[in-house]
Amino acid sequence: MIEETKHPSPATPPSPAAPPSPAACPLPPAAFALPPAACRLPPVPLLAWFAANARDLPWRHTRNPYHILVSEIMLQQTPVDRVIPKYHDFLEAFPTLESLAAAPTAEVIRIWAGLGYNRRAVNLQRAVRAVRDSYGGLFPPTAQALQNLPGIGPYTAGAVACFAFEQDVAFMDTNIRRVLRRTLVGPDDTEPPPHDRVLLALGAALVPPGQGWAWNQAIMELGALICTASAPACRRCPISLYCRAYAARAAADEVALLAMGEDVGTERAVGAPTPRPVRRVAERKEEPYLGSRRWYRGKIIDALREHNRLPLARLGPLVKADYCESDAAWLRDLVAGLSRDGLVILEDDDVRLP
Ligand code: SF4
Repeated sequence: MIEETKHPSPATPPSPAAPPSPAACPLPPAAFALPPAACRLPPVPLLAWFAANARDLPWRHTRNPYHILVSEIMLQQTPVDRVIPKYHDFLEAFPTLESLAAAPTAEVIRIWAGLGYNRRAVNLQRAVRAVRDSYGGLFPPTAQALQNLPGIGPYTAGAVACFAFEQDVAFMDTNIRRVLRRTLVGPDDTEPPPHDRVLLALGAALVPPGQGWAWNQAIMELGALICTASAPACRRCPISLYCRAYAARAAADEVALLAMGEDVGTERAVGAPTPRPVRRVAERKEEPYLGSRRWYRGKIIDALREHNRLPLARLGPLVKADYCESDAAWLRDLVAGLSRDGLVILEDDDVRLP
């Protein structure tokens, strides 16, 4: 187990590089088809911005891979402000990998209450049980090995390798994807859209040696605070000089102003171009939650958190106010799905947490 440490200030940026103008970037529109070496995004501005603006998040003070894994799994589908108290509660209930591995799954699901997507709790416990059983309780330190753990995908494996073991690896979540795509490729509607594999390779070439931890934290933070999906704050962005989306929008604005007979030179003399926000990236759309299958699955788990064990006939009215006999097949199907995901056990007509 790696000892918990305060993370050092990320404000040790490498020597400054001369900022090119956006036009100096040699990439044609199909930038992502070129070798990663063709892209230029010096680390200094982003790392310096992160050092000055990073939020103080509890998982940024640790290199404990178990704590990092807990935070990453929680953060996958839950906002930071909701995760922070649950992160502390969870680690208080299960302070070590061993304690989580040994706990009854029902107890893990109970502690997970309030976070939603309960399958994450089951997958998290499966992963730490595999670390206990197959790795002697020590997390494997590489992204490749971490991906062999049950329920751990490429993003989580990369995040744990980077944030716990400080490896200079690239990985992508929604925020990183958005920043890389806008910076290296262009506006959100640039066609054809880059394949994730290509974007990841481009991003990997940018990771500054020895600073992968700060670099990846910084890109994620930029995506969360500045380069947001719907309202990127380009005027406050530390990497706007290197951003193809920003350059494209500025060029489009310039053309529009010229067409209107405005003196573009005057505006440029007093400040940077004022690009309209880039169009929202086509990110995954959530189905309406209320009344959805996921919503009813959550209600079933909530009922079982409270009652431990319930016959299907009693469970139905607890999850659906107008439950009637004709809903029995629907309820059984929902429960069967939860059972396949390891969230409940169905014995005869009784349901309980595992
Ligand atoms: S300049 Fe704008 S679009 Fe480009 S990375 Fe910064 S916030 Fe995002």
